[in-house]
Order: sequence, then C-alpha cells, then structure tokens
Amino acid sequence: MTTQPTDKLPKLDPETPIGWIGTGVMGASMCSHLRSAGHPVTVFTRTKSKAASLLDAGAEWADSPRTVAERCPVVCTMVGFPPDVRQVYFGDDGVLAAAQPGALLIDFTTTEPSLAVEIAEQAAARGAFAIDAPVSGGDVGARNATLSIMLGGEAAAVDAALPLLQRLGKSIVRQGGPGTGQHTKMCNQIVIAGTMVGMCEALIYGHRAGLDLETMLASIRGGAAGCWSLDNYAPRILKRDFAPGFFVEHFIKDMGIALREAERMNLALPGLALVHQLYVALKAQGHGRKGTQALMLALETLNG
Ligand code: NAP
Repeated sequence: MTTQPTDKLPKLDPETPIGWIGTGVMGASMCSHLRSAGHPVTVFTRTKSKAASLLDAGAEWADSPRTVAERCPVVCTMVGFPPDVRQVYFGDDGVLAAAQPGALLIDFTTTEPSLAVEIAEQAAARGAFAIDAPVSGGDVGARNATLSIMLGGEAAAVDAALPLLQRLGKSIVRQGGPGTGQHTKMCNQIVIAGTMVGMCEALIYGHRAGLDLETMLASIRGGAAGCWSLDNYAPRILKRDFAPGFFVEHFIKDMGIALREAERMNLALPGLALVHQLYVALKAQGHGRKGTQALMLALETLNG
C-alpha cells in the first residue's frame, strides 16, 4: 500500500463536519457524543427511525453513504456484519465512490481484518485514509464514552483522528497498520468467550448449590474472578433481563471471524470453538437477537 501525503488530512476541531453511518445500539450513542461536542453531523442508516434522536438533536440526514462522504471530510461507520461494511464502502452509492483526497474514514464495526486492509488499500488509491477502529465496552461504554478503541492504520491518520476518538473512549491504542485493530478485537472476543461461559456456569452452579447469588457475586467479583462480564452481565441475568446490549448474532459473527483467522494461521482454539458452538445452539433456539448474557438460557436448557 502506498503511503499517502498526510498534509491533506483534516485538522479535527469541533467545527469539522462528521459523517456517521449506522445508528444502532452503539452508533447512536457514539454519534451523539460528537454532536454534543459541537460537530455538525450528517447521518445515514438503513432504518431512518433509528436516527430519530440524532435528527431531533440537529443532525442532518443524507440519503446514502455516498452523500455522507460528499459532504464530510471525516466519515465514521458502525454497521453490523462484514457484508454491511462492504456495501457501505464499496457499493455504487458507497463511501469510496465519493471520498475526497485526504478524507479520513473510520470503521468502528467489528469485521474481518482482511476487509479492513482492503478498505485501506482502496481508500489509499483515492488519496484517502482508512482506519479500523473496533471497540469494546458494550452499550454501557458507548453511552458513557468509556470505550476501548483498538486501532489499525497509518500513524498520521490515527493521530489526526485522536480528538474525535477521545470523545468516545478512554483507552485508545494504535496496534499497527490496517487490520491490526480488528485482530486485536478478535483477541478481546476470545477472552470474552471465556468470561461469558465462566460467568454463566458459575451462576448455574451457585443456584444448584443453593447459594444466594447476589451474596456469592459479592464475594467473587472482588477477587481473581472479577471481570467486566461478571460486573455488567451477571446483574442482568439475575433480573432475567436478556435484552441486547450485544447481540448474540454479532458475537457468533465475531467468534466465526476469529476461528477462521486462527485456522488460516494453523492455530487450534478449542475453548473458543466450544463457546462458539454453545452460541450457535442459542441462536438455533431462537435467541439470535437477544443479548449475549442469554447464553444462560442455553445452559439452563442443557441442564434441564
Ligand atoms: P446494531 O444495533 O444492529 O447497529 C448496526 C446499525 O447499522 C443498524 O442500525 C443497521 O440498520 C445499520 N446498518 C447495517 N447495514 C447497513 C447499511 N448497509 N447501511 C446503513 N446502515 C446499516 O448493532 P450494534 O450493537 O450497534 O453493533 C454494531 C457493531 O459493533 C457490530 O459489528 C458489533 O459486533 C459491534 N460491537 C457491538 C457492541 C455492543 O455491545 N452492542 C460492542 C462492541 C462492538 P438496521 O437498524 O436496519 O438493522
């Protein structure tokens, strides 16, 4: 990939127009922080009603990703699956059909590392810059602007994006060139797979053993078992709250990407493969659009 002249990169200040594509659970909250910081914001998303709160707060609507890129020197995307990312960037009405030289394109979606490389290459061919910037921290992190943001892309492009990223997250780390942000997110998801199944199995064991689960959690969350899943998802499970959060079908997508990448690298990850299968079973039971804490339902079924 050629290195672009970086002098055309936008200097981000609160007046810089920002384009935002994909205003679902994560994107709507993230975009609202940029609007609150004063940026003129232009949005496009597949289901317009999901942008209603942003439009009410003064964001402009655009009819396509292409129009967003025509209007804005910085375009952020937060859609669902790799085919959605492909459509948004490479479609006839896509971002890359209109991105200007020096444009900064930031994809926050969790997607394939190879797709991030492809976007960066095609952006570079137009004199634009693309960064892969998947996030961790869940719906709570998006709402509170406390996300961990894992970055892949040219150092100058990441530096240019920093003022914007700092409005969204607390941990902002460049990993290396294009695709390395997505690889890092796969490492994140491999850990989460383990903590989710561990948390659910601890709750089901504690229940069968007759423990008071709140009291059990009060003991273990402060010790070596303490983790984000335990703090954020165990309370939802105790309330039988299985709303997303983080969709089961998105987690299956992420674990599938990690397993395919691992196989490509001649690497066996049996723990991840097991958790992936449990989640596939959960989806087969009709729970694909529930939150990932619904793994408890699959374990309950398994245990009668
Ligand atoms: P979501 O609520 O489904 O949001 C995605 C949004 O993108 C939806 O509103 C969807 O439209 C829109 N979209 C999809 N394809 C599009 C297209 N071609 N053009 C325009 N808009 C399109 O999902 P989310 O929970 O925000 O997650 C977004 C991404 O972040 C996923 O890759 C997920 O794995 C990742 N992630 C999620 C979390 C979490 O806790 N939720 C945490 C970290 C990372 P519709 O409304 O029509 O479906």
